[in-house]
Amino acid sequence: MDLKKLINKGIDSLSPYEPGKPIEDLERELGIRNAIKLASNENPLGPSPKVLQSIDAILKETHRYPDGNATRLKESIARKFNTSPNQVTIGNGSNDIIEFIARSFLSSGDSAIFSEHAFAVYPLVVKAVGAKGIEVPAKDFSHDLQAMLNAVEKNTKLIFIANPNNPTGSFIEFDELIDFLGRVPEDIIVLLDQAYFDYSSFETKDAEFDILENFPNLIMSRSFSKAYGLAGFRIGYSVSSEDIANYLNRVRQPFNANSLALFAAEKALEDDEFMKQCLHLNAEQKELLYYGLESQGYDCLPSKGNFISFDCKQDSRDAFNKLLQEGVIVRSLNVYKMPNHLRVSIGLPQENITFLEKIKLTQS
Ligand SMILES: *Cc1c(COP(=O)(O)O)cnc(C)c1O
Repeated sequence: MDLKKLINKGIDSLSPYEPGKPIEDLERELGIRNAIKLASNENPLGPSPKVLQSIDAILKETHRYPDGNATRLKESIARKFNTSPNQVTIGNGSNDIIEFIARSFLSSGDSAIFSEHAFAVYPLVVKAVGAKGIEVPAKDFSHDLQAMLNAVEKNTKLIFIANPNNPTGSFIEFDELIDFLGRVPEDIIVLLDQAYFDYSSFETKDAEFDILENFPNLIMSRSFSKAYGLAGFRIGYSVSSEDIANYLNRVRQPFNANSLALFAAEKALEDDEFMKQCLHLNAEQKELLYYGLESQGYDCLPSKGNFISFDCKQDSRDAFNKLLQEGVIVRSLNVYKMPNHLRVSIGLPQENITFLEKIKLTQS
């Protein structure tokens, strides 16, 4: 059998997404028990206590299928952010949403635009459906919106914007974003990926979805994996026009989000107090990490997220491996075409202190 002939062309040329190294793996390899993972932008404080206090009740119901329409969670999201449940689509992580969008709008012969140094999943999903990815060079490690507009081709159907962006942490201000959206041809879908939006804009008016009224081609996606601390549950969502939501729903698996995740997300949304605590810790510790890194002479990129990317003054794979030997897992940005940059997630105070001590050792 010639598998190479059978496989979808787009899939043959894919390299799988490389996740951050799990703590357990490293601890087993080094025979240690106190490894620190600052590699996947998870919330170091974990899920809201409100989630943990009440999730047992749901466990007892897990012989039942989940609510395939996610009615309650959609209503919670709609209420909180002043939109309609019919505009909400629930994903198994917002990654799932990114895939719905690629599958709904792209096929072979189409193209999609994303920025250099943007989230690694965009080129993957575009290739997987046989479409062409157009990577637009970044400007100062940020999206070059004008260049992205200039890159539009006749067959372009989709533009990805991550705001804040991962892994650079760059952020497009609201006015600039609106100006950009106004200039995108109306027959091109824009995915505004807001996985880190809570860090930049929680409790601002931008947290609502009212700009959708002016841009029917816009889809805004958000995640419970980062600030809400639910990465292991796999839950995220998008808000768009009802028409787009109807299409996304067609490619969605009937029970893509499990009962525990649906429940956890609903509870997490109710706990603003805990969110504020998380944001506060993140802001304070981010300052400290900037200070610590810069006083060791590292150049850091300004970040609106819960991570900092910085020039580690050597091949970042070497620095990554040296840190691993010290029991600290971070992320090398080699695959993001930033061969000398590491990305470190903001952790608990003690984790950040340890990281700063260990990064010092990588210079020798
Ligand atoms: C983490 C991340 C996501 C996906 O997160 P999920 O866990 O699938 O919700 C999406 N976009 C960006 C930019 C991310 O960094």
